Amino acid sequence: MENLKKTKNIVENKIKELRDMTPNKHFEHTKLAEIEINKFFFEGKTVDRVMVVLRANGCEHYKKNGGCSMCSHFNGTDRNANITTEEYIEQWESVLSGKNFDNDNIKFDINDYPVVCVYNLGSLLNKNEISTEAVRYIFQSLNKQKGVKKVIIESRAEYITEETISNIRDVYINGILEVGIGIESTNITIREVCHHKELEDLEIAKEAIKILHKYNCQALAYINFKPIFLTEREAIEDAIKTALDCFDMGFDAISIEPTSLQDYSLANYLYQLGQYRVPWLWSIRDVVQGIYNNLDARDLDIRLGGYFDEEVLSGSQGVGYEEKNEIFPHMTSLNCDRCSNKFIENIKKFNMTYKLEELYDIEKCDKCYKIWEDTKKIKDSRNIESRVLDILGDE
Ligand code: SF4
Ligand SMILES: [Zn+2]
Repeated sequence: MENLKKTKNIVENKIKELRDMTPNKHFEHTKLAEIEINKFFFEGKTVDRVMVVLRANGCEHYKKNGGCSMCSHFNGTDRNANITTEEYIEQWESVLSGKNFDNDNIKFDINDYPVVCVYNLGSLLNKNEISTEAVRYIFQSLNKQKGVKKVIIESRAEYITEETISNIRDVYINGILEVGIGIESTNITIREVCHHKELEDLEIAKEAIKILHKYNCQALAYINFKPIFLTEREAIEDAIKTALDCFDMGFDAISIEPTSLQDYSLANYLYQLGQYRVPWLWSIRDVVQGIYNNLDARDLDIRLGGYFDEEVLSGSQGVGYEEKNEIFPHMTSLNCDRCSNKFIENIKKFNMTYKLEELYDIEKCDKCYKIWEDTKKIKDSRNIESRVLDILGDE
């Protein structure tokens, strides 16, 4: 435990140093960070879902401890912001009115979308990030939208309490509510050092699942695939084990989230040093296959996060790299330039059908398949602590 704390501190200090170098941005408090439409597998078929990202106060874990090693969502928030209930409500009302989107020709009606995600670049259930009243208002209004069947939100496990869930369930009575929780890894060293998750005790997550089920809500686990400091093989094994553990813990669904690179994250810093590569797409297939090999996955809800055909209705995403949305990664997991696009298309098909065959409908690539196989053979005899010390140095 002593070693874990010491190594975690080294990682935390580096994350904070990078955050301190990050320019703060100012955003209008009454405008959404983003709204987009993408495809989703729901009740046995592919449907359109709308994803609303509120411009919010920002993740408290980032403000207190620097945040997670792969995440730069703080880039989409004003560090000094204190967004009021009224401002959140104005943002939400702009979704309902469908006005002020970048493309005025779009006729938007939330009732056309059976699945709606409401995100805030942090925890929607943390009242320091978004007020209880604003959350209640949003769900009260969603309860009246008869076309909306399911709402997905995200929260760190510690904010899932009887109080926060009943605040929603009191007003959002009939629809399905799913809460995504970042577990990342069930291995404490990987979760606390490599992800810097600040979730030492998984009992907190188990308690959260119990509360969600009590209020007839669903629990979704986010599993970050290939954090920093792991080899490709270790990352594959960790993701498979974590997925199996999450189903054992009682999660109803899992989403494998391959690491992507956002500016100013520690993962991005190590990539710039040549000490990190995003996961191979071939490895994602190994992860899904590994889960299917161990469970009868036909009835399980397993998603591959980040791969959807999206249509951005509004947001600060521009055409050029410099104008891209603050929270968009500049690199996602990849193979080589010859086969990555085809692979990603098949991942999207998997997300729309949950058919494993989609991930096998890809020929072995002459250019990169062998390199990937060799990469999987690379071993690192050092423990995680030594790797952190070697790469980041002592405190
Ligand atoms: S992954 Fe979630 S908990 Fe971690 S820093 Fe990002 S928003 Fe915060
Ligand atoms: Zn290739």
